Amino acid sequence: MSDSSQDTQDSQDSFDVIVVGAGNAAFTAALAAKAEGAQVLVLEKATQKLRGGNTRFTGGVFRCTYNGLDDLVALVRDNDDPGDVVVDSYTKEAYLQDIERVTAGRADPELIQTLITRSYDTVRWMADLGVAWEFSRAVGAVTIAGKQKTKLARGGALRAKGEGVLLSSTLFRLANEADIPVWYETQAQRIVTGPDGRVTGLEVRDPNGTRSLDCQALILASGGFQANPEMRTAYLGPSWSLVKVRGTRFNTGEMTRAALSIGAQSYGEWAGCHATPIDADAPIYGDLRLTDKTNRLSYPFSVMVNLDGERFVDEGEDFNLYTYAKMGREILQQRSATIFQVFDQQTVSLLETRYNTGTPIIAATLADLADRIEERYAALDFRRDAFLTTLEAYNAAVQEGEFDPDIKDGKHTTSLRPEKTNWAARLDTPPFHAYAVSLGITFTFGGIRINTDAAVIDYLDQPIPGLFATGEMTGGFFYLNYPGGAGLMRGAVFGRLAGSHAARFARGE
Ligand SMILES: Cc1cc2nc3c(=O)[nH]c(=O)nc-3n(C[C@H](O)[C@H](O)[C@H](O)COP(=O)(O)OP(=O)(O)OC[C@H]3O[C@@H](n4cnc5c(N)ncnc54)[C@H](O)[C@@H]3O)c2cc1C
Repeated sequence: MSDSSQDTQDSQDSFDVIVVGAGNAAFTAALAAKAEGAQVLVLEKATQKLRGGNTRFTGGVFRCTYNGLDDLVALVRDNDDPGDVVVDSYTKEAYLQDIERVTAGRADPELIQTLITRSYDTVRWMADLGVAWEFSRAVGAVTIAGKQKTKLARGGALRAKGEGVLLSSTLFRLANEADIPVWYETQAQRIVTGPDGRVTGLEVRDPNGTRSLDCQALILASGGFQANPEMRTAYLGPSWSLVKVRGTRFNTGEMTRAALSIGAQSYGEWAGCHATPIDADAPIYGDLRLTDKTNRLSYPFSVMVNLDGERFVDEGEDFNLYTYAKMGREILQQRSATIFQVFDQQTVSLLETRYNTGTPIIAATLADLADRIEERYAALDFRRDAFLTTLEAYNAAVQEGEFDPDIKDGKHTTSLRPEKTNWAARLDTPPFHAYAVSLGITFTFGGIRINTDAAVIDYLDQPIPGLFATGEMTGGFFYLNYPGGAGLMRGAVFGRLAGSHAARFARGE
């Protein structure tokens, strides 16, 4: 803990604006409030060592609009070299279409409009504050064969330099430089309101016990409830009770409950969440040494087979950034929530570098591959013969056509259930590689309702005076699925709005 944080923790119990949480959403709010002249406090439930929420685990991808490479260069500045990069534009219309498509048109139109229209402006504001950006070459990007060029994923072209780890440490540093104290091991528990319904403070728990803090405005940025097994079971369903958590263990939903208990409107898909394919051997909670490197997202180029030897999904429905967030749910429905992604030498070169953190099963024939999987996963009753039958049927069903990882190539199977609709290449070039994959939950979709000023609203759609929220704990943005990079962007756009509106509210405007 820095000295100024220690001093304020010992002596002060009243602030203009208190921010609950210490991730991207919280710090963009805190910095925006400070820029408006407010005296700001940040509360972090985690220890200093484990600080920073899911933000610290992220790949740092921010989905923002841009009209070609120049717009990105204006953000990346001297932090990266655009020489090898190819990028299309990503317009507001394209962003909107992507969100409408993946959420089946359910996303709140006003909130989404704000997210999209403020996205570029917000990452530029972050660059001016001191956040360093770079091109996102690792996730969803494709090397254009023979051209030494990297085509960046549409909409997923920008990431914080050094990913979540550096983004998080930069945000803590910027807060420190702005004289914003951070109190660690301090869990917000209850929101206090006056007789007029206005928020006047909150009760917190720290290593010394409990205490009350006063504020003019309160910003909630304490994440979803994905790390709370009780809430997962209650809202997502019993099968989610035991799933692995990809990120922080501290996002357990108590401030979402606290907001609901003072009248905040519950909003969004409470039974929905972002959950992705991860290494079957990944730990129960995110590991800060691995951060997001347990992801297994090159499945569009694979054949995915469960323990019963069956394919269960169209691996090639879309680019991975548009299917990965719902793919975890598909895997959860398979026996023991364990499946295998199978590649051959035509596709293994397309694997994201994150696969290097795992150990594939490798064999010269599909029959040997099946034997080795059976050996390694004997306890899980892997059905070897069915696996081989499925792969033979798959190979026979693959249609001719050009395989092109850069576009939805339409190279497909026929007469299978389910079909593979893009990137269907025969598994015929040994050695074959199989990766054992399970799922990890990233964040939950349901939460409290905010308006386009990031003010929390009640059941009459009226703002609860003095209460603002941003980030994972807000509902209404994502349903059923999610486009990669929109989580950090949502937190920052509404964090910035929450901070400036909270500061103005605190001074009576
Ligand atoms: C492995 C992984 C990779 C990801 N990659 C990306 C990516 O590249 N791009 C993207 O857009 N999204 C990504 N996400 C999703 C992204 O993490 C979230 O959308 C976003 O970081 C959430 O930010 P946040 O500030 O809302 O929450 P967090 O960053 O999780 O911050 C919540 C904070 O609240 C604190 N807290 C919780 N409860 C309390 C309490 N009661 N009192 C005080 N403090 C409390 C926590 O300790 C934490 O500091 C990824 C997530 C994971 C897990």
